[in-house]
Order: sequence, then C-alpha cells, then structure tokens
Amino acid sequence: MSDQMRLFGDVVGHQRVLELLAREVAAPANAYLFVGAAGVGKATVARRFSALLLCPEAGGHTGECRSCRRVMSAAHPDLIEPDARQGLGVDQARSTIHQASLSPVEAARKVFLFDDAGTMTDQAANALLKTLEEPTATSVFVLVAEFEEQLPTTVASRCRTIHFGRVGEPMLVSALVERGVEEAQARVVAGLAGGRPGLAFSLLHSDAASAFRQQWLAVPSRASSRPGESFRLAAEMLATVEPLLEDAGEELPKDERMRRRGRLALLSAGLELVASWYLDAAAVQLGGPIRNKDVPLAMLTSVTPGDAVTRAERTLDAAVDLEANLRPQLLLADLFADLALD
Ligand SMILES: [Zn+2]
Repeated sequence: MSDQMRLFGDVVGHQRVLELLAREVAAPANAYLFVGAAGVGKATVARRFSALLLCPEAGGHTGECRSCRRVMSAAHPDLIEPDARQGLGVDQARSTIHQASLSPVEAARKVFLFDDAGTMTDQAANALLKTLEEPTATSVFVLVAEFEEQLPTTVASRCRTIHFGRVGEPMLVSALVERGVEEAQARVVAGLAGGRPGLAFSLLHSDAASAFRQQWLAVPSRASSRPGESFRLAAEMLATVEPLLEDAGEELPKDERMRRRGRLALLSAGLELVASWYLDAAAVQLGGPIRNKDVPLAMLTSVTPGDAVTRAERTLDAAVDLEANLRPQLLLADLFADLALD
C-alpha cells in the first residue's frame, strides 16, 4: 500500500478511484467533480482526498497527523466548506472566491470542498466560473454531486470528473462483518443499500433493520401447511419490507423501478435469513459453526439435520425465483407451506 492510500483505509470499495486520487496528489488539477449515486461514498472520499491535499507529509504517516485530524473534523484553516444546507447561493460563491485569492494559512494550498455542489444556483455557478477559469497554483476545488448535469456545463467542463460506481454487495457485506456486524444483519442492510455503503451504515442503526431480521428468523417456527395460514404469513412477511424502505427514506431513490429492486433485494435477504436458520439447525446437530447465535438451541434442534438442509435449499431456490415472479405472495405462501413440519 502506498503512503497516500493509508488515508483511504476505511473507505469501502472504489479501489480504482482511490488509487487514481492518491496519484493525483503530487500534481493535482485545479478542480475535481465527484459524481455518483447518493450514499455511495463520494463525500467520504472527498474529505479524505482533501486531507491528503493539505497534509504536510502527503499522507506519509500511519495514524493521522494533526493536519489530517483537523480536516476530518472540519476544522482546518485551509479547508473551506461552504454550508450547502440552504443551497449554494451567490453570496457563498463570492465569499469562496475571495478566500481563494488569499494565501494558505498553514498548508501548501487551500482546498474548497463543495459537498452538495448540485444545489448551486446558476448565479453562484457563474460567479465561481471566473475563479475556475483563472486557477491559482494554491487552490484546489472539490465539487461533489449526484450527476454531472446538476451543474452548468461551463462549470463541469472546468473540472476533472471522477465517477463513483456502486460497491459490490459481497464487498459491502464483508466490510460490515469486518466492522463487527453479524453476517445475517450485514446481508440485510447490504441487500437494501444497493451498493451504497453510506445507506448500509445508516440502516445499521435502524430499529426496523433488527426487527426485520427477528421477523424472518421466526418464519421456520411459524411455517404452517394450512393454506390460509401460509398465505397470511406470506402477506405479513411482505409487509416487513415497508418500515425499512421508510427508514431508508430520502437516501432511497423515489424512482418506482429502484424501489421495486430495493423491495426484491430485501425479500431475498429475508429468505437468506430463513435459510441461515435451517443451516444453523443442521450445524448445531452436526457440530458446525452457527451464524445466528441469538436463536434458542431448543428451536434449532426441533428439525432433523436432513430436513433442515432440504429446507435451506428450498428457501434459497425461492429467493432465486423471486426475481422472475410477479406474484411474490403466492411464491412465499407455497414456500412456507413446504417448510412446515406439521
Ligand atoms: Zn496528514
């Protein structure tokens, strides 16, 4: 790992982008535009990149130096961050331009970090444009937005654009597990997050996420072969998704197709939880490791290892079918009837 990469140590995914930015530090462009979906990690990377740009040791330290620490806590005199909560207006742009004309206080340069550059008014963008057109050797602009089109072309074309893709689900799950999250829980939040680590981390603290896990882990002991009951249980399990979607709130796109994808990802995470219950039931009797340590042993031993493995497979098959099935309630009702022991 190069020295510069150390500062990016806690970022999930985006390896190629991080390597590129670490190389940029030696001779940075005048302005960068970070674009990508909400919650994907742009702001996290932008702050660390700012730290790297201001660090007197260029990130060449194992912990954090004083300069880097101050950037992380937004308290470095050469890091200018316009407050975008009310949108970025012309006054903020003017004050930024003025600061860009001053010499750095401590570091070799000044960094201007615009977290919500997409909220910039046209007036503000025009004012800023002059500064971007006449760059000084001691200022670097880092603009963060969801799409390039959120900014006027005149501004975007002055920036070096860095695209942030989604983080792969297996990588997200293992990053969460590395941070001490239980694997089943990690799968639930990663499933909902759709490749956005920021959303995954915020869901970890959601009560709805842990209720979701408990509800799905209770399915094996509630499954019934009576058609009416398995159908009711299916309706109930379908509804478990809604509070999570609610908690994901504004970070989840309003786009109906994306919400459908989020819903499917959650249902399949729920089914994986059910399968993990059965695999635990087999493991506890055959002496293997258990994933859901909070499920009472007496429940896990109520099904024979052979039956447990068959049911785990049946459940995982259903998770695959879900993707193509337009009637998830029927699919789940059929599955729950098959899982019943009575
Ligand atoms: Zn440093």
